[in-house]
Amino acid sequence: MKAEKVAPAIGIDLGTTYSCVAVWEDDHVEIITNDQGNRTTPSYVSFTKEERLVGETAFNNAAMDPTNTIFGVKRLIGRCFSDPIVKEDIKLWPFRVVAGAKNRPKIVVKYKGQKKNFFAEEISSMVLLKMKQIAETYFGCTVHDAVITVPAYFNDSQRRATKDAGVIAGFNVKRIMDEPTAAALAYGFHKIKDYSRPQNVFVFDLGGGTFDVSLVNICGGHFEVKATAGDTHLGGEHFDNRVLNYFVDEFQRKCKKDIKDNSRALKRLRSACERAKRALTANTETYVQVDCLYQGIDFSSELTRDRFDELNEDLFTKCIELTGQCLRDANVNKSDVDIIVLVGGSSRIPRVQKLLEEYFGDKKLHRNINQDEAVAYGAAIQAAKLSGSGCDTINKIVLTDVTPLSLGFGLVGDVMSVVVPRNTPIPTKQVAEFTTVKDGQSSVLFLVYEGERLKASSNHLLGEFEIFGISPAPRRVPKIDVWFEIDEDGILNVSGTERDSGKMSKIKINKDESWLRKDEIAKMIKTLENYKVEEEKYKKRVDAWTKLDDYVYEMSKTLRNQELVSLIPQSVRKKIEDEICKASSWLDIDEVPAVKVSKSKLLELKQICEPIVAKKNK
Ligand code: ADP
Ligand code: MG
Repeated sequence: MKAEKVAPAIGIDLGTTYSCVAVWEDDHVEIITNDQGNRTTPSYVSFTKEERLVGETAFNNAAMDPTNTIFGVKRLIGRCFSDPIVKEDIKLWPFRVVAGAKNRPKIVVKYKGQKKNFFAEEISSMVLLKMKQIAETYFGCTVHDAVITVPAYFNDSQRRATKDAGVIAGFNVKRIMDEPTAAALAYGFHKIKDYSRPQNVFVFDLGGGTFDVSLVNICGGHFEVKATAGDTHLGGEHFDNRVLNYFVDEFQRKCKKDIKDNSRALKRLRSACERAKRALTANTETYVQVDCLYQGIDFSSELTRDRFDELNEDLFTKCIELTGQCLRDANVNKSDVDIIVLVGGSSRIPRVQKLLEEYFGDKKLHRNINQDEAVAYGAAIQAAKLSGSGCDTINKIVLTDVTPLSLGFGLVGDVMSVVVPRNTPIPTKQVAEFTTVKDGQSSVLFLVYEGERLKASSNHLLGEFEIFGISPAPRRVPKIDVWFEIDEDGILNVSGTERDSGKMSKIKINKDESWLRKDEIAKMIKTLENYKVEEEKYKKRVDAWTKLDDYVYEMSKTLRNQELVSLIPQSVRKKIEDEICKASSWLDIDEVPAVKVSKSKLLELKQICEPIVAKKNK
């Protein structure tokens, strides 16, 4: 029996707007290109009458079908519906999000003519599956192991939900890794040999929808994240929105037309704004043009870099403020920062770079690594390290992450009692002592929060835990140790023991399940497998259709060969020409026909064209 070929572990940067996959191979990191030859893939999923599209095809479908094209789910993942941030996002999205069971947001789409609901994890799993398929096409075999990155600011539920998405996509998730750590690794990896003294690397990641800054200390092969800060709602799309609103107002002023409620017009104008923004990194002025923007009216206007900067100045300033916060948390003076690494597409904006340069004085901004690929690059190195397939340098690397938020529980009076302070290196295990307030009390309920606010309820509620089976005793006598254990993925597990006259006895802790249950995950895996079958069927349809298309193209070319054509009786030639002409307009349809239809059409055409083909092959 032939042994199954095993692909190496891959690294995936699951971005809000773009995702990227990479692998450590032949002593270097290879960024794996998608079927369109691009190194990053839009994190988009689109549902149509016929099938589900992911990546480039979904992105291209967004303008045509905005209500059924899903993007930016990374903003939704691991959050509850009532989260004010979710409420804000929903207002801006063209697709519908509703409250599902347990206050979990559900995305509503029309798929194959029917209404369907999806959790954010499910949509993310579709993007991850796409990245998996890109890698599988590259290796020619199944990929199992992956390291998936998340913003450093992601909390426990967001990390957990991302890991679930990976499991649903069929991955063995080897690690959930912080994006800035991955970027620092991508940068520092080649430099490790040169470092005789510790270096403070400041990672500045301004992406499509999130902003992360981290202070990473590199010493030899040892990488330690000293502190992180950021904003899950600050990035390229916010800059696009500022420009969009500016031009919506201008259109209103000039043409007396309001396009605010026309999602198609908005989408087209937003794309033009984004293109203009990119152009402004190289030029100081550009044009924003959209033909037939609204009711047949064309739109065209100038955008200067100065105007763009002015529209976004407060957002750029916020990036610098968060930079300061991160350094303060790390207890590092800005003069002690050795290198500034720029990551994320939006870090290309000249004004942002200028503000950073001003802030850090004469420090050199490091631009040597590709801003769009650095995170996946680092994840691939981590994947190789964890699976033992890397080189000596990789094996020497030690990564230490920290908790992005403080974890603790609510005391009487709604005061937050911190058990694991922010920026504690992980994995970690910390203990908190609990006791009873009534005589003979056998259970204690407590709420676990994460966040920095003194008032517990102002922080993010992670879950309700209940300690059972406490031995009967007068109040305040039982002593219960509750362990807060954070694993390498930054995911929290709570367990408890009762200290009974020096004897430790395990007690039971129940958690309010606000996350996905195992059976829910299993169900989602099954659904995704069905999609795979469906996609394979679709691929067969496309293949049959392409064969027909190729044949028609080939025959049209042949028919232009006058010499050849003159050898065939006129009536036969006429028939061939008519049929080829009919077939090419038939091929010009939006929907791909069934395999059967394309095949029989091809057969029919082959018979009709036989006389000319016979002459050609002579
Ligand atoms: P994420 O990791 O959040 O998915 P990326 O790091 O891939 O995002 O960055 C995508 C963002 O970068 C988009 O908003 C895109 O418009 C922006 N971007 C890409 N290139 C440029 C550029 N040259 N100038 C300004 N913004 C850019
Ligand atoms: Mg990113």
